[in-house]
Amino acid sequence: MLKDQDRIFKNLYNDQGSDLKSAIKRGDWSSTKELCEKGRDWIINEIKSSELRGRGGAGFPTGLKWSFAPKEVGSRPHYLVINADESEPGTCKDRDILRFEPHKLLEGCMISSYAINANKCYIYIRGEYFREGQNLQKAIDEAYKNNLLGKKACGMDWELDVYIHYGAGAYICGEETALLESIEGKKGQPRLKPPFPALIGLYGCPTIINNVETISVVPTILRKGAKWFASLGRPKNTGTKIYCISGNVNNPCNVEEEMGIPLKELIETHAGGVVGGWENLKAVIPGGSSMPLLPKKICDTIKMDFDSLVAEKSGLGTAGIVVINNDQDIIKCFARIARFYKHESCGQCTPCREGSGWMWRMLERMAKGEASRDEVNMLMDVTKQIEGHTICAFGEGSAWPVQGLLRHFKKEIEKRNNFNPMVSRNRKIPYLVDQHLLEKKNA
Ligand code: SF4
Repeated sequence: MLKDQDRIFKNLYNDQGSDLKSAIKRGDWSSTKELCEKGRDWIINEIKSSELRGRGGAGFPTGLKWSFAPKEVGSRPHYLVINADESEPGTCKDRDILRFEPHKLLEGCMISSYAINANKCYIYIRGEYFREGQNLQKAIDEAYKNNLLGKKACGMDWELDVYIHYGAGAYICGEETALLESIEGKKGQPRLKPPFPALIGLYGCPTIINNVETISVVPTILRKGAKWFASLGRPKNTGTKIYCISGNVNNPCNVEEEMGIPLKELIETHAGGVVGGWENLKAVIPGGSSMPLLPKKICDTIKMDFDSLVAEKSGLGTAGIVVINNDQDIIKCFARIARFYKHESCGQCTPCREGSGWMWRMLERMAKGEASRDEVNMLMDVTKQIEGHTICAFGEGSAWPVQGLLRHFKKEIEKRNNFNPMVSRNRKIPYLVDQHLLEKKNA
């Protein structure tokens, strides 16, 4: 279990207040100027050595991403964009940072902007987080008033302006290039990559885009040192992480824990255990709805970090853990998830636009026991036609949950739909009779 002195988010449950005075008491905004004065290269190298990986889902090394921004500012300004869109079902960690630790984020914005030479920072918040946005705006105002932001920010010869931009609630605007399009006032549709935003991003200028949690941990890493951060978790999966635990647990919660903590310990210790006991567990979605589920057998021993989950053909994603117990209809759950993705596809790519609807309709039939035997294989085939054939990772995000279901619960689908050699397509007509009707129709 994470020791209290290693906790980065000390006000995750808002028992100390989110205002500037309380934040300063917790150690935020202390020595910001001194950290920046150590230089851009020092900051980027520290973040690289800490092995911090992005907390928004993809897990890309943060220091490496920052090093892609041009070293000098040319004719185009640099931008820092914070992704606070947080639309992944099962995830609500950034929300609590915006509500209870906004100054941690703002100090992170200050240092990160300095490191990448950006004088403007945009925080893109999903429209539904209106109150969170208000709270963040209050913190921004406090920071300006106390000369932590704006001209001569933190008493340095450096200017930083921070703006909030509200989205309108589209899931796809959490994809970084769709987010940029949305800030620019266009339809939130992902761009083709390359070019990558680090070179051609917001308004065609070099832009670094990071998740709220990623930027919020930067000041503490620099203050306590990269070595300290890297000593938590395991190599390439270092530090702490806010896990969101929801679904069939007795105490749904957000909790900061060490990377690599066993999933069972997280659920039993922090979330009050599975409703009906551990033996009543059916499956867990470990990283938000776009990550493949894990059946109980794997959940017994799996560790919660990027590489352990990839080894089990799933992923840490946003660390939004959704617990599903035996009281749930697992096929129906995944039909519902598929419906969500069908609704949220931006429609640019045919495999995603059409395939997400196919997957939803097939799963609905399977949940009702009305699917044909061929459809199970066909469903896997549809997921493969989407995966890797689209502009953005939404394609994989919609296909992977279905693949996970088929990988681990295929037998349940077959049982529900009464697949046996004598029962054929859809309407449970005995195979021979069906064949006979087909021949008659073709004649
Ligand atoms: Fe849009 Fe889906 Fe293509 Fe992404 S994969 S660009 S969401 S259609």
